[in-house]
Amino acid sequence: MSAIEVIAFDADDTLWHTEQMFQDVQNRLYAMMATYASKDEVAAHFHDMEVKNVRLFGYGVKGFTLSMIESAIEISAGQVSAADIHEIVMLGKRILDAPLNIFPAVETVLQTFKDDYRLLLITKGDVLDQRNKIEKSGLETYFERTLVVQEKDVATYRALFAEHGIDPQRLIMVGNSLKSDVLPILDLGGSAVHIPYHVTAHFENVVGRINHPGFFELTKIADFPELMKSL
Ligand SMILES: [Mg+2]
Repeated sequence: MSAIEVIAFDADDTLWHTEQMFQDVQNRLYAMMATYASKDEVAAHFHDMEVKNVRLFGYGVKGFTLSMIESAIEISAGQVSAADIHEIVMLGKRILDAPLNIFPAVETVLQTFKDDYRLLLITKGDVLDQRNKIEKSGLETYFERTLVVQEKDVATYRALFAEHGIDPQRLIMVGNSLKSDVLPILDLGGSAVHIPYHVTAHFENVVGRINHPGFFELTKIADFPELMKSL
């Protein structure tokens, strides 16, 4: 019998598609900047800009959009047109307004566990955007709590678990990011399931292999109930 009492789920790219939309918009930026710099140069400039700005804007579409505008202005040495800046703003708005594309089996998986476990949703990013997505998902009723945090690191998780009376040793976290959903949870003595998404935001990349008794890897969330039976 598993000692797990709490299952925490990441949201973006774990329950529903997100990152692909960001990548599509970035590709549009590369095309827009093609007369000024190569795709690799634009990508590098924009990534540095995002990393630099995240501490001021936080994660999310609004910061992403502002970073694209700032990058476009710098890369073009001020030559980017108002029409192009307008298009960048519209691309950002389109992400905020996009219909939510939930992965297959998510609702079945939540249904499987909702009576026997405490279910949490823990997501980071812009509060309004994340709340809108949670509402659009129609999945809120499955969770004891849905929590939006600024950063998913050891300090944040530790404070959050203390606040909600959760022993990390009795928790398993499911997510697509090794940096945000897996490593800090293992550090705190919990278990974690990594389900990679086909694209990863550059600031979530982690190098190296994880060798830990509480670490599991799956290719899709539909396989999670089977894994839980084996614990
Ligand atoms: Mg995620």
